Amino acid sequence: TATDLNVASRRAASASAFARAQDLMPGGVSSPVRAYKAVGGDPVYIRSGKGAVVTDLDGLEYVDYVGSYGPLILGHAPDTVLAALSKAAARGTTFGMPTEAESTLAAMVIDAVPSVEMVRFVNSGTEAAMSAIRLARAATGRPAIVKCTGCYHGHSDALLVEAGSGALTLGQPSSPGVPKDITQNTLLVPFNDLEAARAVFEAHPDQIAAFAVEPVGGNMGCVPPVEGYLEGLRSLCDEFGAMLLFDEVMTGFRVARGGAQELYAVTPDLTCLGKVIGGGLPCAAYGGRRDLMEQVAPAGPMYQAGTLSGNPLAMAAGIATLAELENPDLYGQLESTTRQLAEGLATRAERAGVPVQIARVGSMLCVFFAESPVLSYEQAVRCRTDRFAAFFNAMLERGVILPPSQYECWFISAAHDGELIKQTLQAAEHGFAAAVE
Ligand code: PLP
Repeated sequence: TATDLNVASRRAASASAFARAQDLMPGGVSSPVRAYKAVGGDPVYIRSGKGAVVTDLDGLEYVDYVGSYGPLILGHAPDTVLAALSKAAARGTTFGMPTEAESTLAAMVIDAVPSVEMVRFVNSGTEAAMSAIRLARAATGRPAIVKCTGCYHGHSDALLVEAGSGALTLGQPSSPGVPKDITQNTLLVPFNDLEAARAVFEAHPDQIAAFAVEPVGGNMGCVPPVEGYLEGLRSLCDEFGAMLLFDEVMTGFRVARGGAQELYAVTPDLTCLGKVIGGGLPCAAYGGRRDLMEQVAPAGPMYQAGTLSGNPLAMAAGIATLAELENPDLYGQLESTTRQLAEGLATRAERAGVPVQIARVGSMLCVFFAESPVLSYEQAVRCRTDRFAAFFNAMLERGVILPPSQYECWFISAAHDGELIKQTLQAAEHGFAAAVE
Protein backbone atom coordinates (compact mmCIF):
# COMPACT_ATOMS: atom_id res chain seq x y z
CA THR A 1 0.00 0.00 0.00
CA ALA A 2 0.95 3.65 -0.20
CA THR A 3 1.53 3.70 3.55
CA ASP A 4 3.88 0.71 3.37
CA LEU A 5 5.85 2.39 0.57
CA ASN A 6 5.97 5.58 2.56
CA VAL A 7 7.27 3.71 5.64
CA ALA A 8 9.85 1.87 3.58
CA SER A 9 11.19 5.05 2.06
CA ARG A 10 11.26 6.84 5.41
CA ARG A 11 13.44 4.08 6.79
CA ALA A 12 15.54 3.36 3.71
CA ALA A 13 18.86 3.43 5.59
CA SER A 14 17.61 0.93 8.19
CA ALA A 15 16.28 -1.32 5.44
CA SER A 16 19.54 -1.38 3.55
CA ALA A 17 21.58 -1.92 6.74
CA PHE A 18 19.36 -4.90 7.55
CA ALA A 19 19.65 -6.32 4.04
CA ARG A 20 23.43 -6.28 4.39
CA ALA A 21 23.36 -7.79 7.89
CA GLN A 22 21.13 -10.69 6.85
CA ASP A 23 23.86 -11.91 4.56
CA LEU A 24 26.46 -11.73 7.31
CA MET A 25 24.72 -12.86 10.51
CA PRO A 26 21.90 -15.37 11.12
CA GLY A 27 18.67 -13.42 10.71
CA GLY A 28 20.78 -10.28 10.50
CA VAL A 29 20.95 -9.84 14.26
CA SER A 30 22.99 -10.63 17.36
CA SER A 31 19.91 -11.67 19.40
CA PRO A 32 16.65 -13.08 17.95
CA VAL A 33 13.87 -10.72 19.08
CA ARG A 34 15.66 -7.76 17.48
CA ALA A 35 14.70 -9.10 14.03
CA TYR A 36 11.01 -8.01 14.29
CA LYS A 37 9.74 -11.45 13.25
CA ALA A 38 6.79 -11.16 15.63
CA VAL A 39 5.67 -7.73 14.42
CA GLY A 40 6.66 -7.71 10.76
CA GLY A 41 8.85 -5.27 8.86
CA ASP A 42 12.54 -4.50 9.14
CA PRO A 43 14.20 -3.63 12.42
CA VAL A 44 15.02 -0.01 13.11
CA TYR A 45 18.78 0.56 13.12
CA ILE A 46 19.91 2.83 15.90
CA ARG A 47 22.53 5.48 15.40
CA SER A 48 22.46 7.06 18.84
CA GLY A 49 20.49 7.58 22.01
CA LYS A 50 20.30 10.31 24.62
CA GLY A 51 18.01 10.27 27.62
CA ALA A 52 14.79 8.47 26.67
CA VAL A 53 15.10 9.15 22.95
CA VAL A 54 16.87 7.15 20.24
CA THR A 55 17.69 8.30 16.71
CA ASP A 56 17.76 5.86 13.81
CA LEU A 57 20.01 5.69 10.76
CA ASP A 58 17.52 7.75 8.76
CA GLY A 59 17.53 10.50 11.37
CA LEU A 60 14.06 9.66 12.78
CA GLU A 61 13.61 10.01 16.54
CA TYR A 62 11.67 7.72 18.85
CA VAL A 63 10.69 7.70 22.52
CA ASP A 64 12.40 4.48 23.59
CA TYR A 65 10.80 1.84 25.81
CA VAL A 66 13.22 -0.93 24.84
CA GLY A 67 15.88 0.51 27.11
CA SER A 68 18.23 -2.24 25.93
CA TYR A 69 15.82 -4.68 27.65
CA GLY A 70 16.45 -3.30 31.10
CA PRO A 71 19.91 -1.92 31.82
CA LEU A 72 19.21 1.73 31.01
CA ILE A 73 17.38 2.84 34.15
CA LEU A 74 18.96 6.30 33.79
CA GLY A 75 18.28 6.50 30.05
CA HIS A 76 20.82 6.58 27.23
CA ALA A 77 24.28 8.02 27.65
CA PRO A 78 23.91 9.62 31.08
CA ASP A 79 26.67 12.18 31.66
CA THR A 80 27.93 10.57 34.88
CA VAL A 81 28.28 7.16 33.25
CA LEU A 82 30.01 8.61 30.18
CA ALA A 83 32.50 10.49 32.35
CA ALA A 84 33.25 7.37 34.42
CA LEU A 85 33.69 5.32 31.25
CA SER A 86 36.09 7.68 29.55
CA LYS A 87 38.19 7.95 32.71
CA ALA A 88 38.32 4.17 33.02
CA ALA A 89 39.03 3.61 29.31
CA ALA A 90 42.01 5.95 29.43
CA ARG A 91 43.55 3.70 32.08
CA GLY A 92 43.14 0.53 30.00
CA THR A 93 40.20 -1.61 29.04
CA THR A 94 41.07 -5.02 30.49
CA PHE A 95 43.89 -6.55 32.48
CA GLY A 96 42.99 -10.09 33.54
CA MET A 97 44.34 -8.95 36.92
CA PRO A 98 42.35 -7.56 39.83
CA THR A 99 41.29 -3.92 40.02
CA GLU A 100 39.82 -2.05 42.99
CA ALA A 101 36.70 -1.17 41.02
CA GLU A 102 35.52 -4.77 41.42
CA SER A 103 35.43 -4.40 45.20
CA THR A 104 33.76 -1.00 44.92
CA LEU A 105 30.89 -2.39 42.82
CA ALA A 106 30.71 -5.58 44.92
CA ALA A 107 30.34 -3.50 48.08
CA MET A 108 27.55 -1.43 46.46
CA VAL A 109 25.67 -4.57 45.42
CA ILE A 110 26.08 -6.20 48.84
CA ASP A 111 24.91 -3.01 50.53
CA ALA A 112 21.76 -2.82 48.41
CA VAL A 113 20.59 -6.41 47.93
CA PRO A 114 19.36 -7.98 51.20
CA SER A 115 20.38 -11.63 50.62
CA VAL A 116 23.76 -10.97 49.05
CA GLU A 117 26.82 -11.26 51.30
CA MET A 118 29.36 -12.00 48.55
CA VAL A 119 29.26 -11.72 44.76
CA ARG A 120 31.03 -13.10 41.71
CA PHE A 121 30.96 -10.95 38.56
CA VAL A 122 30.31 -12.54 35.16
CA ASN A 123 29.51 -11.11 31.72
CA SER A 124 25.86 -11.92 31.10
CA GLY A 125 22.69 -12.96 32.84
CA THR A 126 22.99 -16.32 31.09
CA GLU A 127 26.30 -16.95 32.82
CA ALA A 128 24.98 -15.74 36.16
CA ALA A 129 22.03 -18.16 36.11
CA MET A 130 24.08 -21.07 34.79
CA SER A 131 26.71 -20.54 37.48
CA ALA A 132 24.22 -20.06 40.31
CA ILE A 133 22.58 -23.37 39.35
CA ARG A 134 25.97 -25.06 39.38
CA LEU A 135 26.59 -23.65 42.84
CA ALA A 136 23.21 -24.82 44.14
CA ARG A 137 23.96 -28.32 42.82
CA ALA A 138 27.45 -28.26 44.32
CA ALA A 139 26.19 -27.04 47.69
CA THR A 140 23.35 -29.55 47.98
CA GLY A 141 24.85 -32.51 46.12
CA ARG A 142 21.50 -32.85 44.32
CA PRO A 143 20.94 -33.05 40.55
CA ALA A 144 17.54 -31.51 39.81
CA ILE A 145 16.36 -27.94 39.46
CA VAL A 146 12.85 -26.56 39.19
CA LYS A 147 11.99 -23.71 36.87
CA CYS A 148 8.70 -22.09 35.94
CA THR A 149 7.26 -22.19 32.45
CA GLY A 150 7.64 -18.78 30.83
CA CYS A 151 10.52 -17.71 33.06
CA TYR A 152 13.74 -17.01 31.19
CA HIS A 153 17.10 -17.54 32.80
CA GLY A 154 19.29 -17.12 29.74
CA HIS A 155 20.14 -19.65 27.08
CA SER A 156 22.31 -22.22 28.87
CA ASP A 157 21.25 -25.77 27.96
CA ALA A 158 19.63 -26.84 31.22
CA LEU A 159 17.60 -23.64 31.52
CA LEU A 160 16.41 -23.33 27.92
CA VAL A 161 13.22 -25.25 28.53
CA GLU A 162 9.79 -23.64 28.13
CA ALA A 163 11.64 -20.35 28.47
CA GLY A 164 10.06 -16.95 27.91
CA SER A 165 11.54 -14.00 26.01
CA GLY A 166 12.55 -14.77 22.40
CA ALA A 167 11.80 -18.47 22.88
CA LEU A 168 8.20 -17.56 23.63
CA THR A 169 7.99 -14.79 21.03
CA LEU A 170 9.20 -17.10 18.28
CA GLY A 171 7.25 -20.11 19.56
CA GLN A 172 10.36 -22.17 20.25
CA PRO A 173 9.80 -23.37 23.81
CA SER A 174 12.90 -25.50 23.69
CA SER A 175 15.75 -25.67 21.23
CA PRO A 176 17.26 -28.34 19.02
CA GLY A 177 20.81 -29.03 20.12
CA VAL A 178 19.92 -29.46 23.76
CA PRO A 179 20.19 -33.19 24.58
CA LYS A 180 17.39 -34.75 26.61
CA ASP A 181 19.75 -36.00 29.28
CA ILE A 182 20.69 -32.39 30.03
CA THR A 183 17.11 -31.23 30.52
CA GLN A 184 15.82 -34.33 32.28
CA ASN A 185 16.98 -32.73 35.52
CA THR A 186 15.02 -29.56 34.80
CA LEU A 187 11.55 -29.89 36.32
CA LEU A 188 8.85 -27.50 35.12
CA VAL A 189 5.98 -25.98 37.04
CA PRO A 190 3.59 -23.13 36.21
CA PHE A 191 4.49 -19.73 37.68
CA ASN A 192 2.32 -18.47 40.53
CA ASP A 193 1.13 -21.98 41.41
CA LEU A 194 2.18 -23.04 44.91
CA GLU A 195 0.34 -26.34 44.77
CA ALA A 196 2.32 -27.35 41.70
CA ALA A 197 5.51 -26.29 43.47
CA ARG A 198 4.69 -28.47 46.49
CA ALA A 199 3.80 -31.38 44.24
CA VAL A 200 7.15 -31.26 42.42
CA PHE A 201 9.05 -31.28 45.71
CA GLU A 202 6.98 -34.18 47.01
CA ALA A 203 7.50 -36.16 43.81
CA HIS A 204 11.28 -35.69 43.94
CA PRO A 205 12.31 -35.77 47.59
CA ASP A 206 16.05 -35.15 48.18
CA GLN A 207 16.58 -34.56 44.45
CA ILE A 208 15.98 -30.84 44.02
CA ALA A 209 18.98 -28.53 44.41
CA ALA A 210 17.19 -25.28 43.65
CA PHE A 211 13.90 -23.67 42.79
CA ALA A 212 14.83 -20.98 40.27
CA VAL A 213 12.34 -18.21 39.64
CA GLU A 214 12.04 -14.69 38.31
CA PRO A 215 10.37 -13.07 41.34
CA VAL A 216 8.46 -10.89 38.87
CA GLY A 217 7.97 -12.69 35.58
CA GLY A 218 9.55 -10.33 33.06
CA ASN A 219 10.01 -12.51 30.02
CA MET A 220 6.38 -13.41 29.34
CA GLY A 221 5.26 -9.79 29.54
CA CYS A 222 5.13 -8.50 33.09
CA VAL A 223 3.68 -11.02 35.52
CA PRO A 224 3.75 -10.05 39.20
CA PRO A 225 3.83 -12.79 41.82
CA VAL A 226 0.43 -13.46 43.39
CA GLU A 227 0.18 -12.73 47.08
CA GLY A 228 2.01 -15.32 49.16
CA TYR A 229 3.70 -17.02 46.20
CA LEU A 230 7.29 -16.00 46.92
CA GLU A 231 6.82 -16.57 50.67
CA GLY A 232 5.39 -19.99 49.89
CA LEU A 233 8.40 -20.88 47.74
CA ARG A 234 10.68 -19.79 50.57
CA SER A 235 9.01 -22.18 53.02
CA LEU A 236 8.92 -25.06 50.53
CA CYS A 237 12.65 -24.69 49.88
CA ASP A 238 13.30 -24.68 53.64
CA GLU A 239 11.07 -27.71 54.17
CA PHE A 240 12.74 -29.73 51.40
CA GLY A 241 16.34 -28.52 51.86
CA ALA A 242 16.59 -26.79 48.48
CA MET A 243 18.06 -23.42 47.55
CA LEU A 244 15.68 -20.64 46.61
CA LEU A 245 17.25 -18.89 43.62
CA PHE A 246 15.87 -15.50 42.61
CA ASP A 247 16.84 -14.53 39.10
CA GLU A 248 16.86 -10.77 39.52
CA VAL A 249 18.74 -10.07 36.30
CA MET A 250 15.79 -7.91 35.25
CA THR A 251 14.29 -6.89 38.62
CA GLY A 252 17.54 -6.16 40.48
CA PHE A 253 17.95 -2.40 41.05
CA ARG A 254 14.87 -2.04 38.80
CA VAL A 255 11.73 -2.66 40.88
CA ALA A 256 13.52 -1.33 43.98
CA ARG A 257 17.16 -0.67 44.80
CA GLY A 258 17.32 -4.03 46.58
CA GLY A 259 15.30 -5.71 43.82
CA ALA A 260 12.17 -7.83 44.20
CA GLN A 261 13.56 -9.39 47.38
CA GLU A 262 13.39 -5.94 48.99
CA LEU A 263 10.00 -5.11 47.47
CA TYR A 264 8.35 -8.35 48.60
CA ALA A 265 10.53 -8.92 51.68
CA VAL A 266 11.43 -12.51 50.78
CA THR A 267 15.05 -13.58 51.13
CA PRO A 268 16.46 -16.11 48.64
CA ASP A 269 19.63 -18.16 49.17
CA LEU A 270 21.10 -17.19 45.82
CA THR A 271 20.48 -14.20 43.57
CA CYS A 272 21.35 -13.48 39.94
CA LEU A 273 21.86 -9.90 38.86
CA GLY A 274 22.61 -8.30 35.49
CA LYS A 275 21.30 -5.50 33.27
CA VAL A 276 21.22 -2.43 35.59
CA ILE A 277 24.34 -3.43 37.55
CA GLY A 278 26.46 -3.03 34.41
CA GLY A 279 25.09 0.42 33.57
CA GLY A 280 24.74 -0.58 29.90
CA LEU A 281 27.97 -2.57 29.61
CA PRO A 282 28.22 -6.36 29.61
CA CYS A 283 28.17 -7.30 33.28
CA ALA A 284 26.18 -9.61 35.53
CA ALA A 285 26.72 -11.33 38.86
CA TYR A 286 25.55 -14.04 41.17
CA GLY A 287 25.66 -13.77 44.90
CA GLY A 288 24.24 -14.99 48.14
CA ARG A 289 25.09 -16.19 51.60
CA ARG A 290 28.79 -16.20 52.47
CA ASP A 291 28.87 -19.94 53.25
CA LEU A 292 27.51 -20.69 49.78
CA MET A 293 29.64 -18.21 47.87
CA GLU A 294 32.77 -19.47 49.59
CA GLN A 295 32.26 -22.73 47.71
CA VAL A 296 33.14 -20.91 44.47
CA ALA A 297 36.72 -21.28 43.16
CA PRO A 298 39.31 -20.34 44.23
CA ALA A 299 37.81 -20.05 47.76
CA GLY A 300 36.10 -23.40 47.23
CA PRO A 301 35.81 -26.29 44.77
CA MET A 302 33.02 -25.13 42.39
CA TYR A 303 34.72 -23.96 39.22
CA GLN A 304 33.63 -20.86 37.32
CA ALA A 305 35.80 -18.29 35.55
CA GLY A 306 35.88 -15.53 32.89
CA THR A 307 38.53 -13.68 30.85
CA LEU A 308 36.57 -10.42 30.86
CA SER A 309 34.71 -10.89 34.16
CA GLY A 310 34.84 -7.80 36.36
CA ASN A 311 35.89 -5.80 33.30
CA PRO A 312 37.07 -2.31 34.30
CA LEU A 313 34.74 -0.49 31.91
CA ALA A 314 31.74 -2.50 33.05
CA MET A 315 32.68 -1.89 36.68
CA ALA A 316 33.00 1.86 36.06
CA ALA A 317 29.60 2.08 34.34
CA GLY A 318 28.03 -0.05 37.07
CA ILE A 319 29.49 2.04 39.88
CA ALA A 320 28.37 5.31 38.26
CA THR A 321 24.86 3.92 37.70
CA LEU A 322 24.38 2.43 41.17
CA ALA A 323 25.66 5.68 42.71
CA GLU A 324 22.80 7.55 41.02
CA LEU A 325 20.34 4.98 42.31
CA GLU A 326 21.25 5.88 45.89
CA ASN A 327 19.17 9.04 45.35
CA PRO A 328 16.14 8.30 47.55
CA ASP A 329 13.73 10.11 45.21
CA LEU A 330 14.60 8.18 42.09
CA TYR A 331 12.46 5.06 42.57
CA GLY A 332 9.51 7.22 43.62
CA GLN A 333 9.89 9.21 40.41
CA LEU A 334 10.07 6.04 38.28
CA GLU A 335 6.99 4.71 40.04
CA SER A 336 4.94 7.83 39.41
CA THR A 337 6.02 8.20 35.77
CA THR A 338 5.17 4.57 35.10
CA ARG A 339 1.83 4.80 36.91
CA GLN A 340 0.91 7.85 34.85
CA LEU A 341 1.81 5.95 31.67
CA ALA A 342 -0.13 2.84 32.75
CA GLU A 343 -3.25 4.80 33.66
CA GLY A 344 -3.11 6.80 30.45
CA LEU A 345 -2.75 3.65 28.38
CA ALA A 346 -5.68 1.99 30.16
CA THR A 347 -7.96 4.97 29.48
CA ARG A 348 -7.03 5.11 25.81
CA ALA A 349 -7.44 1.38 25.29
CA GLU A 350 -10.87 1.52 26.84
CA ARG A 351 -11.85 4.47 24.66
CA ALA A 352 -10.74 2.55 21.57
CA GLY A 353 -12.68 -0.52 22.76
CA VAL A 354 -9.62 -2.80 22.93
CA PRO A 355 -9.51 -5.28 25.80
CA VAL A 356 -6.08 -5.01 27.42
CA GLN A 357 -4.50 -5.87 30.75
CA ILE A 358 -1.86 -3.43 31.83
CA ALA A 359 0.55 -5.10 34.20
CA ARG A 360 3.21 -3.18 36.02
CA VAL A 361 5.75 -3.53 38.79
CA GLY A 362 7.84 -0.43 39.42
CA SER A 363 9.17 0.72 36.06
CA MET A 364 8.49 -2.58 34.23
CA LEU A 365 5.24 -2.52 32.26
CA CYS A 366 3.36 -4.66 29.78
CA VAL A 367 0.22 -4.07 27.75
CA PHE A 368 -1.28 -7.53 27.32
CA PHE A 369 -3.84 -7.77 24.55
CA ALA A 370 -5.96 -10.12 26.65
CA GLU A 371 -9.43 -10.20 28.14
CA SER A 372 -8.39 -11.25 31.64
CA PRO A 373 -5.34 -10.79 33.86
CA VAL A 374 -2.22 -12.72 32.89
CA LEU A 375 -0.68 -14.59 35.81
CA SER A 376 1.16 -17.39 34.06
CA TYR A 377 2.73 -18.56 30.82
CA GLU A 378 -0.34 -20.65 30.14
CA GLN A 379 -2.43 -17.45 30.16
CA ALA A 380 0.22 -15.34 28.39
CA VAL A 381 0.25 -17.54 25.30
CA ARG A 382 -3.43 -16.79 24.74
CA CYS A 383 -2.78 -13.06 24.12
CA ARG A 384 -3.76 -11.48 20.80
CA THR A 385 -0.27 -11.12 19.35
CA ASP A 386 -1.83 -9.94 16.07
CA ARG A 387 -3.27 -6.95 17.91
CA PHE A 388 0.06 -6.31 19.58
CA ALA A 389 1.78 -6.29 16.18
CA ALA A 390 -0.66 -3.71 14.79
CA PHE A 391 -0.28 -1.60 17.94
CA PHE A 392 3.51 -1.85 17.78
CA ASN A 393 3.68 -0.70 14.16
CA ALA A 394 1.28 2.18 14.69
CA MET A 395 3.33 3.34 17.68
CA LEU A 396 6.52 3.11 15.64
CA GLU A 397 5.00 5.28 12.92
CA ARG A 398 4.26 7.91 15.55
CA GLY A 399 7.72 7.94 17.04
CA VAL A 400 7.43 5.49 19.92
CA ILE A 401 9.63 2.41 19.85
CA LEU A 402 8.52 -0.58 21.93
CA PRO A 403 10.12 -3.98 22.41
CA PRO A 404 8.98 -5.86 19.28
CA SER A 405 7.13 -8.60 21.15
CA GLN A 406 3.99 -8.99 23.22
CA TYR A 407 6.13 -10.88 25.72
CA GLU A 408 8.82 -8.32 26.52
CA CYS A 409 8.50 -5.62 29.17
CA TRP A 410 8.63 -1.94 28.43
CA PHE A 411 11.31 -0.25 30.50
CA ILE A 412 10.77 3.24 31.82
CA SER A 413 13.85 5.26 32.75
CA ALA A 414 14.52 8.30 34.88
CA ALA A 415 14.83 10.24 31.61
CA HIS A 416 11.18 9.62 30.59
CA ASP A 417 9.57 12.96 31.51
CA GLY A 418 5.99 14.19 31.44
CA GLU A 419 6.32 15.53 27.92
CA LEU A 420 7.50 12.17 26.54
CA ILE A 421 4.73 10.33 28.37
CA LYS A 422 2.20 12.73 26.83
CA GLN A 423 3.67 12.08 23.39
CA THR A 424 3.49 8.32 24.03
CA LEU A 425 -0.16 8.51 25.07
CA GLN A 426 -1.08 10.53 22.00
CA ALA A 427 0.56 7.88 19.84
CA ALA A 428 -1.26 5.18 21.81
CA GLU A 429 -4.65 6.59 20.74
CA HIS A 430 -3.71 5.68 17.18
CA GLY A 431 -1.99 2.48 18.34
CA PHE A 432 -5.09 1.09 20.03
CA ALA A 433 -7.29 2.12 17.11
CA ALA A 434 -4.95 0.21 14.76
CA ALA A 435 -5.08 -2.84 17.05
CA VAL A 436 -8.82 -3.31 16.46
CA GLU A 437 -8.97 -2.23 12.84
N1 PLP B 1 17.56 -13.85 33.50
C1 PLP B 1 16.59 -12.96 33.29
C2 PLP B 1 15.51 -12.80 34.30
C3 PLP B 1 16.59 -12.18 32.14
O1 PLP B 1 15.62 -11.28 31.94
C4 PLP B 1 17.63 -12.35 31.21
C5 PLP B 1 17.67 -11.56 29.95
O2 PLP B 1 16.72 -10.97 29.53
C6 PLP B 1 18.62 -13.30 31.46
C7 PLP B 1 18.56 -14.02 32.62
C8 PLP B 1 19.74 -13.53 30.50
O3 PLP B 1 20.60 -12.44 30.53
P1 PLP B 1 21.58 -12.16 29.29
O4 PLP B 1 20.73 -11.82 28.14
O5 PLP B 1 22.44 -11.04 29.79
O6 PLP B 1 22.37 -13.42 29.08
